[in-house]
Amino acid sequence: MHLIVAEKNISAHRIAAILAGKEKLLVSRDAGVPVYRFNECAAIGLRGHVVEIDFEEGYTDWRSREKTPRSLIDARTIKVPTEKKIVLLLQKLSRSADRVTIATDYDTEGELIGKEAFELIRQVNPGVSVDRARFSAITPDEIRHAFGATTAIDFDLAAAGEARQVIDLMWGASLTRFISLAARRGGANILSVGRVQSPTLAMIVDREKEIEAFVSQMYWELSLLTEKDGEVVQARHQTARFCEKAAAVAARDRTTEPLVVTDVKEGNKTERAPVPFDTTGFIVASARLGFSAARAMRVAEDLYMNGYISYPRTDNTVYPTSLDLTGILRTLRPTEFEQEIDWVMANRRPVPTRGKKSSTDHPPIHPASAATRQSLGDERWKIYELVVRRFLATLSPDARWRTMKVTFDAGGEPFAATGGQLIEPGWRRVYPYSSAKEYLLPAMTAGERLPLREVSLEEKETQPPPRYSQSKLIQQMEEQGLGTKSTRHEVIQKLISRKYVEGNPLRPTLVGRAVTESLENHADTITRPAMTRTLEEHMQQIKEKMRSGKDVVSESRGMLHAVFDQLEAHCHEIGNEIMEQTAEELILGPCPVCSRDLRIRHLRNQTQFIGCSNYPECSFNIGLPMAMWGRALRTDSICQIHGLHHVRLVRKGSRPWEIGCPLCHHIESNREALSLVPSMTPGFQQALTSAHIYTISELAHAENLGEILGISPGEAGKIREEAGGVLGLLRRRSECRKLVRRMLAPKKGRSPAKIIKKLQEAGINDIAALGQADPALLKKVGIMDSEAESLLLEAQMVENDRVLRAAGIPAASIRKYLGAGIVSPDDLLSIPPASLAERTGLSLATVQRHVDMMARSRGETPPPRYTKAQVRKGEKELRSVPGLTSTALGKLRDAGVINGTLLLAGDPGALAGRTGIPEEKIRNFQAVLRERAKKKNDEIIVI
Ligand SMILES: [Zn+2]
Ligand SMILES: [Zn+2]
Repeated sequence: MHLIVAEKNISAHRIAAILAGKEKLLVSRDAGVPVYRFNECAAIGLRGHVVEIDFEEGYTDWRSREKTPRSLIDARTIKVPTEKKIVLLLQKLSRSADRVTIATDYDTEGELIGKEAFELIRQVNPGVSVDRARFSAITPDEIRHAFGATTAIDFDLAAAGEARQVIDLMWGASLTRFISLAARRGGANILSVGRVQSPTLAMIVDREKEIEAFVSQMYWELSLLTEKDGEVVQARHQTARFCEKAAAVAARDRTTEPLVVTDVKEGNKTERAPVPFDTTGFIVASARLGFSAARAMRVAEDLYMNGYISYPRTDNTVYPTSLDLTGILRTLRPTEFEQEIDWVMANRRPVPTRGKKSSTDHPPIHPASAATRQSLGDERWKIYELVVRRFLATLSPDARWRTMKVTFDAGGEPFAATGGQLIEPGWRRVYPYSSAKEYLLPAMTAGERLPLREVSLEEKETQPPPRYSQSKLIQQMEEQGLGTKSTRHEVIQKLISRKYVEGNPLRPTLVGRAVTESLENHADTITRPAMTRTLEEHMQQIKEKMRSGKDVVSESRGMLHAVFDQLEAHCHEIGNEIMEQTAEELILGPCPVCSRDLRIRHLRNQTQFIGCSNYPECSFNIGLPMAMWGRALRTDSICQIHGLHHVRLVRKGSRPWEIGCPLCHHIESNREALSLVPSMTPGFQQALTSAHIYTISELAHAENLGEILGISPGEAGKIREEAGGVLGLLRRRSECRKLVRRMLAPKKGRSPAKIIKKLQEAGINDIAALGQADPALLKKVGIMDSEAESLLLEAQMVENDRVLRAAGIPAASIRKYLGAGIVSPDDLLSIPPASLAERTGLSLATVQRHVDMMARSRGETPPPRYTKAQVRKGEKELRSVPGLTSTALGKLRDAGVINGTLLLAGDPGALAGRTGIPEEKIRNFQAVLRERAKKKNDEIIVI
């Protein structure tokens, strides 16, 4: 069997379909991984890297004393499978293979992925022959050609990729740990440092500092307007910028008629057609269409894997002679570009344009097959169209312009006007992404006098350098030798997701800046591009067999140890610098009560809130959702009313939750609660807000409420009381809401919030009411019968528990009562204390105290108390009655009959009913007791 291993599932599918030709392609799944079979072949797709390198065991504890961050430099690395199912299937298929072809992407990364697969295959089938198919586009021609002329895996190329992996892991992990520990950051807030990432971040930080340090200067521009053949012509003073206002004003004052044309120069200018796309050029052009670098690459990779364009990771800007340009034009003709293609074919430039970089691995990005707008969808079509049009432009003639420069003299001051006219659009016909700005000048001749219509002097300011856009940054990274065509956009994405930079154009966050500045101060090797550039050169040397991967890694280890010498010597300074600088990111603005700083505070147990830095003098605070909903961070927007930074909750993998101004949010979320106060009016609400009373609890405790609202102390007291009532209601509602949410199973199409709202509308505001609710009502609001029963029970139980607690019965005792089946206050009051004591194991005195407490809290008279001795005496008395067994004794006790007197006093019929002892027996017991009592009386009389 011939096994074909592609980089991704989608490319495996396409390659198999192409190679199968007219043969039937069978698709099966093995442990969820698709396998494509035809003839004697099977093709599977990896998921990029299916193994990753990691440190050997024992390095996971960041705070370990022996395994310090520095120890990671020399830690051994191992390869761990990350896609276990694929690895297993790859090895399973390899066992029965007699030939394997590696068909991963054709670049360093692809070669390494291929080598990783090779190692996995050889583990289980050491003798199998393994070859390599290399192609730049997944089109029938390229694929058939590549499989017809397979070569061997390039182990040097893979070794270069492997060395880079090890070095990146070593630098990234050790430095990230060191800096995070120094700045006391952990969990989601670690400070990552990386070999390419850190110098890139430094470029953004440096640009920001340049902008801040920029002192703008005034300058003046002088221009005039004249007219020829009814057309207005603008001319500028030959001194483009006047730096002194006096000189500019003097020149303006001298600018007078006669205005004479002194010279007219006409010329031609050619505008070269653009060069073929490499990755950077492509990203820059996509940015003009609104694509971020990462998104442009994602779409391009998708188009590549589906065979529409060639491999998008390339440094090459020169078409190789082997590339069949005419063939591509023919392939593309049946698309909506037919007209453009016909034009290009008829007007094709003799040699296509070429850029400065030529490499042998991949051709520049070019279209590979025809597509329609409909089949691709909007986003993919935009990128496809860009690639097609760029390709056409590189084969089109240059554009030609006619230029004209006219100079004037006005009162001795020299002016000039320039114009341009597109006479031959050339490539602009097929590549409309940059518009041609034509400025036509009417015909003029030297010596001609023209009217002076207007003279204007404009005051301007020099501008600071602009912040980097993503595409500009990628260009800059390329110039500095940072990263590769494959990784640059990913590095920028990492900086964004790690919250080191934000916005477009990019600017550093406080953390990004703090980390960079601290590294620049203490170990600037990490933030300078030189080290990374050197490594890129070493990679090249590995590829060219001039150095071994081991050698390069070991040199890098030495460099990193030197960096740690510097870092470890300044560990405390680095930590303090970062912590001091980043504290600012939590400050939101002035406290509405005392004007000191409000700050976001994070506590250990997921709790976060906004508090005043003047605490405990000022206790103003605003609650925030738990950190599981996202960590609270400030944004750059500032509330116009309160001067506070907006707050956003950020959680990995989900869209941020915009809270906005925390105080506006606080006021808004309390508005409804305040309006529940019966005497509340909109005027009162406003007065409360200006007095910084935002919540119902603050209102219930407001001391100078009368003054604030302009009402009498009596009225103020009433409002406070009402607020207290609402507070209680809200508390009870919230408890009820929690219970309902806890008890209802999540179900599609049913929102607990809606059910709770309906319950409240039906007057069910607390757990007590819920426990007594009519099951029919529960059904009406959307609770199923099966759930209603347990919901009612739970509500009753929670409510009973609350009432028992409220009566003052300790929780430990409540647990004992529940354990004995005594669940409600009614049980407690109806079961005789002696039975309660017997059943729960609590002492009689304790039980009687509980019964008293319960009765009093209900406003009822407590039952009579008995001492232990009295109970024991009564028990003894009853036991001595012939025929009264232990069982009967228990039954009597449960009915509250604990001595002979009580037994004698009861009506036999009623006692039989309460105890379940036959009436006949009770009459017998009573007879015995009556007899004894009589004897006793007689004895007394005798004495
Ligand atoms: Zn305050
Ligand atoms: Zn606000």
